[in-house]
Amino acid sequence: MEIFDKLQILADSAKYDAACTSSGVANNSAASSGMGSTCLAGVCHSFAADGRCISLLKVLQTNICIYDCKYCLNRKSNAEIKRAVFKPEELADLTIQFYKRNYIEGLFLSSGVIKNPDYTCELMIRTLMILRNEYNFNGYIHAKAIPGADNKLLQQLGMLADRMSVNIEMPSQSSLALLAPDKSKNSILAPMNFIKESISENCRDLTVYKKAPKFVPAGQSTQMIIGASPETDSHILKLTESLYKKYKLKRVFFSAYIPVSDDAMLPSLDTSPPLLREHRLYQADWLMRFYKFGASEILDDNSPNFNPFMDPKCNWAVNHPDFFPVEVNRASYEELLRVPGIGVRSAQRIIVARRCNTLDFLSLKKLGVVLKRAQYFVTCKGKKNDGLIIKHDNILRSLMSKKEFDMYKDMNYPKQLDFIEAEKLLNGGHIKGTEEMTLMSLPPSP
Ligand code: SF4
Repeated sequence: MEIFDKLQILADSAKYDAACTSSGVANNSAASSGMGSTCLAGVCHSFAADGRCISLLKVLQTNICIYDCKYCLNRKSNAEIKRAVFKPEELADLTIQFYKRNYIEGLFLSSGVIKNPDYTCELMIRTLMILRNEYNFNGYIHAKAIPGADNKLLQQLGMLADRMSVNIEMPSQSSLALLAPDKSKNSILAPMNFIKESISENCRDLTVYKKAPKFVPAGQSTQMIIGASPETDSHILKLTESLYKKYKLKRVFFSAYIPVSDDAMLPSLDTSPPLLREHRLYQADWLMRFYKFGASEILDDNSPNFNPFMDPKCNWAVNHPDFFPVEVNRASYEELLRVPGIGVRSAQRIIVARRCNTLDFLSLKKLGVVLKRAQYFVTCKGKKNDGLIIKHDNILRSLMSKKEFDMYKDMNYPKQLDFIEAEKLLNGGHIKGTEEMTLMSLPPSP
């Protein structure tokens, strides 16, 4: 098989992996002659530790797999796809050729499990060794750890990659047993723990030996499929929080399930991917990582799913009127972060600015606070903004678009609303594509 044919097959098979910020969902422009198609495979974007957006060749070593995960296109029982394997030399050479032509800045390498996990891991190690040692490639490499591979092999892979990830796949053990019967909780968490321990050990080594080789310097991440199984958003968020705490992950990626199988245990093939739900999860994830929210504060057993009409931070604010108003001249940094319209940067600016001056609403505006939202939740020198009429509807209007507000009222929310239903209504029956995919990596609006 020609290299180009292999590339087409193996880049296409990798497009559902969401450990980066573009996904494989079709959008409007894909059908037209416009730019920005997210359904074409090959290059994805990720963010380096310094915040730069980098383009990566996203490809599988092979899409042959001995496992039969029901939600995966590459499952062994799927006879409808073409299969291919890259030889390590072929893939390393291809990466370098693309790099030299300035198409990519790094590599995102995953794989199906061919023969056994160790053999697959060895193929990936060989590819990265050629890149690092023969081509002296110093660019970014993200490598997927193959669950079940020997720790020694994971260690070698980690010495060659900048970032590693082990996909947690499903949000619960029962869903994993049902949909990925060849995998177990332990086969996923054990390598995750091994990588965490090895990173800590390497950090200790580096404090003593400055030139010690680095193990996974950009940390580890994971990916979870959303919408293929029945777990609530609250369950997913609590799991995410515990993964960050226990395994010190850099990121948890959520991947809206794109139906690829007509298995009775999965949503039907005509189900739209739950992109709005995925977007809300990224917003909540951002709140936990940068706004000091706990998972149980964002959602709990009484309201286990996100409000489709309002981002999680605003939703928290309207449900906690006892917390407000916050006096901006005295509030702690953590309290400021809870105010809709105040983001991380504007909260930091407030803390600095109020050391010299007493702040009023005009100064808040100058500091970048979105007053349209924040004015309902703060006081300056003990006073509300001049002329402000505090009514529940006014507050909601400031936190939602007109369309969202009208629908929210019409549907008499809160009621348990199906996300797909809400998304269709909000978008006139069309599932958002590119904008949604771009937005999902952004923080909730301050
Ligand atoms: S192990 Fe990975 S590639 Fe193989 S079927 Fe499962 S998800 Fe797909």
